[in-house]
Amino acid sequence: MNKILIAGAGHGGLSAAAILAKHGYIVTVLEKADRNTIGHDWHDAMDIPAFKFADIPIPPEECFKRGLHMCYYNPKKTVRLNMDAGPGLSSSDCITIDRKFLINYLIEHCESCGVKFIFNAEIKEVISADKRVCGLKAYINGEEKEFLADMIIDAAGMNSPVRRTLPENFGIQRDFLHEDTFEVFRAYYENTEKYVTDPNYSVFFYNCGKPGIDWVITEEEYMDVLIGKFGTLTQEDIEASLKDIRENYPGIGETPIRGGSVEKIPLSKTLPLLVADSYALVGDSAGMTVPLNGSGIDLSIQAGKLLASAVMAASKNGFRKEDLWQYQYRYFTLFGNPLIPISILRRFLSSVTAEDIDFFLENNILTEKEINMAGGNFSGITASYILDKLMAAAPLIKLLPDLIKTVKPITELSDIYKMMPAVWDDKKVQKWLKKYKDL
Ligand SMILES: Cc1cc2nc3c(=O)[nH]c(=O)nc-3n(C[C@H](O)[C@H](O)[C@H](O)COP(=O)(O)OP(=O)(O)OC[C@H]3O[C@@H](n4cnc5c(N)ncnc54)[C@H](O)[C@@H]3O)c2cc1C
Repeated sequence: MNKILIAGAGHGGLSAAAILAKHGYIVTVLEKADRNTIGHDWHDAMDIPAFKFADIPIPPEECFKRGLHMCYYNPKKTVRLNMDAGPGLSSSDCITIDRKFLINYLIEHCESCGVKFIFNAEIKEVISADKRVCGLKAYINGEEKEFLADMIIDAAGMNSPVRRTLPENFGIQRDFLHEDTFEVFRAYYENTEKYVTDPNYSVFFYNCGKPGIDWVITEEEYMDVLIGKFGTLTQEDIEASLKDIRENYPGIGETPIRGGSVEKIPLSKTLPLLVADSYALVGDSAGMTVPLNGSGIDLSIQAGKLLASAVMAASKNGFRKEDLWQYQYRYFTLFGNPLIPISILRRFLSSVTAEDIDFFLENNILTEKEINMAGGNFSGITASYILDKLMAAAPLIKLLPDLIKTVKPITELSDIYKMMPAVWDDKKVQKWLKKYKDL
C-alpha cells in the first residue's frame, strides 16, 4: 500500500491528506506545532466554495461570520475604493473564520478519514536519492528520526525545510527573494468605545510612507490591526503605524489582547515548478498566497484537491513528475494563471512612492476596477486599456520606464497561458518554465 507523508499541517496538505486517506493510502502528517496550540490567534478571510471544491464539509454556520466588506485608502487617506467579493462569489460566500478553529476543524476532518498525525515533529531536511524524494528527517522530543514514504507533499509553509533542502538538480526554487516577501505584525486591541466603521475592513496603502499595507478591522469587541511592509518590517514601522492608527481610531486599547506576533508571507507569483519525482509543493510553500486579497487559504485547500487527484493517478507509475505535472497544469489553469496580473500589480506597487500612489488614486488611474483585479476580476484589461492608463500617468514622467517595465509582462500573459504544456514534455516544460520565470 502506498505511503504518503505530508510535511507540515498546511491547509493544502490537509485537504489532499483527507482525500488520499479516504482512498486507502496510508497518510501521515508531520507537524512541528503542538496539537493544543496549533493555528494563528486571529480570524482570517476565506470563501465558502473552497470547502465544497475540496470535498470538505462546510463547518456549522455558527463557526464563522458571513460577509466581507473591504475598502482601500491611499496614503493621504483622501480616496476610498471599495472591493467586491470577486468573480462568481456573492458577498455572503466570503467569510471570516477563527484560524485556530479552522486548522483544528481540518485536522479532525482528516482524522475522521484515517489520516495519522505526529505533532511536535520538527522536520529538518529532506531525504533524497537519484532525483527522487524518499523521506524526511525530523526531530521528535530531541531525537532525530527518519520517515520514508512513496510520496511527500510539502505543506510546511513559506519557510519549508523540505523545499529549502532539496538538491539543486530537482529544479525547484528553494527560497523566496527577500523583496518577494511581506513581513506583518498582527494584533487585536480592545475596542473601548465600540467604534465600528462602514465598511468595517479598511486597508491603507503605504501607511506612514513605506511600501506595504496596513489594515484595521473594527468589530464591536475588538480592533484587528495588521501592519505589513514589503521586505522588512522594523519596530519603528510598527510604532509609526500604530501611532497613526490610534489617531484615526478612537478608543483603541493600549496593549494587544490577542496575537501580537510578526509573520512572513510570500508575495511572489506561484513558484515555477511544483513537482518532482515523488514530491509536490502546495500552499504557501509553493507561493500560492495573494496577500493583496487574502486568498492563501482558499487556494491551498483547492490546490490540495487537485494534488490528491494527480497523486492517485501518478501512483500507478511510481509518482513520476511527468504524471504529477497534471496537478501543476490544472492548478495554473484554474487558479494560478489568473493571479499573475496581481503579482505584477504588487511588484509595481512596491516600486513607487506614497506620493505616486496618491497621484494614481486621486486622478482615477488606480480605481476600483484595478483593485478588484486583486479579487481575480480582470475582465476588460486590454492593451488599449493599459495604454490609456499609461497616458493618464504621463505626468509622472520619471515613473514611465517603471510603468512600462511593469505592464509589458501583462501583454505576454496570453502567451504564457497558451504555452503551458498540458502533458509533460521535457523540452516544452523547460521552455515554459523559462518564460514564466522571466515574467
Ligand atoms: C497576518 C496574516 C494574515 C493573513 N490573512 C489571510 C487571509 O485573510 N486569508 C487568507 O486566505 N490567507 C491569509 N493569510 C495567509 C495564510 O495564512 C496562508 O496563505 C495559508 O495559511 C496557507 O498556507 P499553508 O497552509 O500552506 O502554510 P501554513 O499556514 O504556514 O502552514 C504550514 C504548517 O507547517 C508547519 N511547519 C512549518 N515548518 C515545519 C517544520 N520544520 N516541521 C514540521 N512542520 C512545520 C507549521 O507549523 C504549519 O502548521 C494570512 C497570513 C498572515 C501571516
